[in-house]
Amino acid sequence: MLETLELASSRAGIESAADILRQGGIVGFPTETVYGLAADATNPLAVRKIFAVKGRPVSNPLILHLGDPAQARRFAVLDETAKLLCDRFWPGSLTVVLPAKPSHPVCSEATAGATTLAVRVPSNAVARRLLSAFGGPVVAPSANLSGCVSPTTAAHVRRDLGGRIDALIDGGRCSHGMESTIVEVGNGAIRVLRDGAVARAEIAAAVGLATQTGFRPGAAPGQLASHYAPTARLRLNAIEARDNEVWLGFGPDAGSAHFNLSKAGDTTGAARNFYGMLRAIDALATKTSCPTIAVSPIPERGLGRAINDRLRRAAHDNSVR
Ligand code: AMP
Ligand code: MG
Repeated sequence: MLETLELASSRAGIESAADILRQGGIVGFPTETVYGLAADATNPLAVRKIFAVKGRPVSNPLILHLGDPAQARRFAVLDETAKLLCDRFWPGSLTVVLPAKPSHPVCSEATAGATTLAVRVPSNAVARRLLSAFGGPVVAPSANLSGCVSPTTAAHVRRDLGGRIDALIDGGRCSHGMESTIVEVGNGAIRVLRDGAVARAEIAAAVGLATQTGFRPGAAPGQLASHYAPTARLRLNAIEARDNEVWLGFGPDAGSAHFNLSKAGDTTGAARNFYGMLRAIDALATKTSCPTIAVSPIPERGLGRAINDRLRRAAHDNSVR
């Protein structure tokens, strides 16, 4: 057990965090999607610590976080579609999987041996200041235990990883609250490997795709069938709560729900609230001895697609837990 250094998002706090990264340490920090756990992407020992602390399978590659889009062009090859997407969505919540240039400095532990790099330039001001103070590429999966609910506040990170990481920067609550959307681009086609904080409709509009259904199917390496899971069971598409259930609602019809992701039925607001409310209702389920969380149906529009993907994985394997 080591002591986790609590850092403010001041200039001094950011400088300390960058020094810790240079020395091979791992640092929890805010991004606009969820809290990340940062390590120097070129340092295999530091990257291995991330896998060990999270209990993450080593076959699951990490996303590279860069402070400057120009670094992406140094490390990877961007075709016209990739350039268009990066210009439109960076800094922001789109991760693009790109063919790596042979000379890139990222260690093979980070890519799980792949010849591609998954790259993102985050928009959160604290994340940007940290990346710029450090200067080099940083790998950053979510700052929680692998398979469990993602963190959207510093308190969530403290609860999951306190005493196991070198430092934690508190930068308040994440503005999107949902992981990045991951796309792979090649031969003019776009494959969505993971739905996330950027809706498919926005991507389709940016590249002039006639409809959102024009995306090619694609499978992301290392994605777990059971993931984002609370302790209680989940019952999805619940119109109301039964006895012995707590209710995570959505929309104006879920008036008596214990928590409502968005009373107005707005999927962007629901994404922002999602992980925080999932954690809170999981705690309530334990406290009230209710073994099941009933969850209202979430429409597939906007960020609803990403929320439903997380809910399906969170509910996976309920029978054995
Ligand atoms: P996360 O678990 O949120 O850190 O997201 C990481 C995900 O990004 C992985 O599970 C992969 O699906 C995807 N990913 C990361 N690196 C690569 C890569 N080099 N090639 C393809 N997909 C990747
Ligand atoms: Mg994660």
